[in-house]
Amino acid sequence: MQKMEKPRKPLMFYYLIVLVVVILLNTLLFPRLMRQQITQVDYGTFIDMLERREVSMAQVEEDMVYFAGVAGEGETPALYSTVIFPNDMELINRLTESGCTFGAVKAEEMNPFLSLLLTFGVPVVIFILLGQLMSRAMMNRMGGGPMGSAMQFGKSSAKVYIASETGIKFTDVAGEDEAKENLMEVVDFLHNPQKYQAIGAKMPKGVLLVGPPGTGKTLLAKAVAGEAGVPFFSISGSEFVEMFVGMGANKVRDLFKQANEKAPCIVFIDEIDTIGKKRDGSGMGGSDEREQTLNQLLTEMDGFEGSKGVVILAATNRPETLDPALLRPGRFDRRVPVELPDLQGREAILRVHAKRVKLAENVDFNAIARAASGASGAELANMVNEAALRAVRQGRGMVTQEDLQESIEVVIAGYQKKNKILSDKERMIVSCHEIGHALVAALQTHSAPVAKITIIPRTSGALGYTMQVEQEERNLMSREELENQIATLTGGRAAEELVFQSITTGASNDIEKATKLARAMITRYGMSGDFDMVALETVTNQYMGGDTSLICAPETSAKIDQMVVETVKAQHEKARNLLRANEDKLRELSRFLCEKETITGAEFMEILEKKDGE
Ligand code: ADP
Ligand code: MG
Ligand code: ZN
Repeated sequence: MQKMEKPRKPLMFYYLIVLVVVILLNTLLFPRLMRQQITQVDYGTFIDMLERREVSMAQVEEDMVYFAGVAGEGETPALYSTVIFPNDMELINRLTESGCTFGAVKAEEMNPFLSLLLTFGVPVVIFILLGQLMSRAMMNRMGGGPMGSAMQFGKSSAKVYIASETGIKFTDVAGEDEAKENLMEVVDFLHNPQKYQAIGAKMPKGVLLVGPPGTGKTLLAKAVAGEAGVPFFSISGSEFVEMFVGMGANKVRDLFKQANEKAPCIVFIDEIDTIGKKRDGSGMGGSDEREQTLNQLLTEMDGFEGSKGVVILAATNRPETLDPALLRPGRFDRRVPVELPDLQGREAILRVHAKRVKLAENVDFNAIARAASGASGAELANMVNEAALRAVRQGRGMVTQEDLQESIEVVIAGYQKKNKILSDKERMIVSCHEIGHALVAALQTHSAPVAKITIIPRTSGALGYTMQVEQEERNLMSREELENQIATLTGGRAAEELVFQSITTGASNDIEKATKLARAMITRYGMSGDFDMVALETVTNQYMGGDTSLICAPETSAKIDQMVVETVKAQHEKARNLLRANEDKLRELSRFLCEKETITGAEFMEILEKKDGE
């Protein structure tokens, strides 16, 4: 991608010119100013110097004498000043006797023109500039009006890109086939609009990319820019947020003016939720500016004709906060979901990024993709990079399967914290806790098998963890599977209770997850019997953590709480029973893990089954 045109010279540019001119004047034209300082000496010293004939030139004023010392060839003499001893009648005589000449010494101290310029001129100029800026801001506030040409305050700073050979292409985006298909159509339209016009089809004016962070929305937009071969204006929503009311609106106006001039072209507004938030009419301080900006955007989107070939792309991960007016047909009439990648997608993304690193031959991308379930494209890209870094750290020339495997854990759980020392007792408790999870998972047929258990502390704070890998991609979860998951989560604590007869703080994360699952089963999945298929909670931000808001009466809410407790309790009891029935295996496996620190799923199953066979 290549930057085609720098839209306008920013204000700083003019300031810089002024600064350079002043510095040049100082150093070239008035060099003495920079170097020469006048030293003050007392009268006695002055007389002494006179007698020693060390004064080359003097300038007598009312009560001061400015004089220059004697200098060698090519040097500039030092300058001095002294206060005249009152009524020294002899002064002039002494001066003439000493053989010095009379001339302007003080004048060399400071060029009067320059000193005037520095002390008055520069501040005045700065104030004039500032004043102009302020008045312009006020003008904009009062509804715009034609802008002067020198100052470009409040103009859009959208960068203009044009496709080039090096740009990102659709092939750089792995997975996300639907999104790509959708956007390719847009690109195709920009290339041959007549094909669409012949049949009377109109291109959507706006395409909104929605999805969780890191799924490649910005990347897709860049790919469109790379493929389209038309000017591509890219601006982030936050760039519209300005200090003065009305500035954002001005920027929008300017952006669309530029786009119209350059049509056919694409305008991409990233993170549009910053300006597209619902207007609530409460008129709270600060919302004024945002509202004006949004209104301007709506107006501009209505204002141009789709047939002209301006397509607006926007991306957001909080579509539910967008103003409905923005989403209605005629504005962003197409909504392209960019979801977290599935197994195939993850594998493809890994492959795309692995192209950039040196790989060992036998790397199994499928296994890595399976282990990285739930990871976004950005996380996968990060994993490949972490793996490469690990290879470099260990002085190897290529990335191996282990590097990738370890990097999944780094991205999920943080780096290994080698210097964190656990006491023997703590190690035993952590081992027992992790084996508890693994054992409960393995003993319930529905739960995913364990891939790896480790008690090496991580920078994320986890003291150990059990990695479960699903054999295949899951789209539906049955009620039993959810219950088993809760049981597995409680398994850690249950094992601690059983072996140590006491409990620790180590289960806080498990508790959180178990509660969330149990709650979702009751309020959102209709798995409670009592409430049947009634939604009691709705998800408010689908892509950002999935917060929920309660929509039921306080009594119902109390009942939900009670049922959540019951659900978790029942599963905890189930986990306890399972472990109690297999207590010797629990103890043996814990000891084994404590000794080895990390064991694989295969080692785990071997011990579990060996005992069975005996
Ligand atoms: P967002 O959806 O938050 O805008 P980005 O487009 O900024 O996400 O993605 C961040 C990085 O993640 C990209 O630069 C790219 O390296 C990687 N990435 C994300 N999704 C994909 C994908 N589908 N294919 C290849 N790389 C991807
Ligand atoms: Mg983005
Ligand atoms: Zn745990």
